[in-house]
Amino acid sequence: MLSIRNLHASVEDKAILKGLDLEVKAGEVHAIMGPNGSGKSTLGNVLAGRESYEVTEGEVLLDGKDLLDLAPEDRAREGVFLAFQYPVEIPGVSNINFLKTALNEIREYKGLPPMEARDFLNRVKEKQKLVEFDAKLANRSLNEGFSGGEKKRNEIFQLAMLDPKLAILDETDSGLDIDALRIVARGVNQLRSKDNAFIVITHYQRLLEYIVPDFVHVLYNGRIVRSGTKELALELEEKGYDWIKETVDAEGA
Ligand code: ADP
Ligand code: MG
Ligand code: MG
Repeated sequence: MLSIRNLHASVEDKAILKGLDLEVKAGEVHAIMGPNGSGKSTLGNVLAGRESYEVTEGEVLLDGKDLLDLAPEDRAREGVFLAFQYPVEIPGVSNINFLKTALNEIREYKGLPPMEARDFLNRVKEKQKLVEFDAKLANRSLNEGFSGGEKKRNEIFQLAMLDPKLAILDETDSGLDIDALRIVARGVNQLRSKDNAFIVITHYQRLLEYIVPDFVHVLYNGRIVRSGTKELALELEEKGYDWIKETVDAEGA
C-alpha cells in the first residue's frame, strides 16, 4: 500500500530525513519509535505535504501512485489521514458539517454523488457507537474548547467517519495521559481491518501495550535503523534509546 524509498527531506536547509525506507501493506499496523529529534514528526509532516518540509530525494508511493506529486488535500482524498492535521479549532463549523464536507469531497474525487442525508446520519450513529464518542461533542464547533481527551476522541471519531486507507497518528512526545492513550488505542483496535493500515508514531512503548503493532521500527538520525516485532519495543523499553544510539553509531564508525 505504502512504499517509501530512500526518502531525504530537509527543513530550513537542514537535512532531517536521510534515506528512509518503509513498506506498509494493507492490514498492517506499524509503530515508529525513536529518540527525540530523530525525525518522527518530520516523517508525518512530509507525508502530509506540509509546506516547510522539502523532499530532496526518494519516492513515496501509495498503491503505486506518487504521493509527493499530490497536494495535501488530494492526499487526503486518496485516503491518507493524518491525525495531527485535524486538531485545529474552527469556530462556527460544527464537527458534523466539517465531516460531511470532507466525506463528500472524498466521494466527489471518486466520482460518487454526495451522501444522502439519512445515510450520513446513520453513519454518524454507527461510528459514534463504535468509538464510544459522545453525541454532544459531534454537534459542537470543531475542537473549540475541547479538552485534550475530547480532541483525541474527536480525532478517532473523524478517523472512523472518513475510513481512510492509511492513517498516520503522531502521538506527540509531550505526554498523552493514560485515558487519551486508551481512547486512541481502542479506536485503532476497532478500526483496523484487512483493507487499511496504520502508522503509529510514538516515543514511548506504553501506547503499544494497548495497540499491538505488527511491526516496530526505530527511527534514528533520519533513517530506520532497526525493524522488528513488538519484542523490539520491549527491548527498547528495557535498554533505552542510548543502546540504539551506541550500537548504530558504532556500526557507522
Ligand atoms: P521527533 O518527532 O522524532 O522528535 P522531529 O521530526 O520533530 O523529531 O525533529 C527532527 C529534527 O528536525 C529536530 O532537530 C528538529 O529541531 C528539526 N525540525 C523539525 N521541524 C522543524 C521546523 N519546522 N523548523 C526547524 N527545525 C525543525
Ligand atoms: Mg519530538
Ligand atoms: Mg515528534
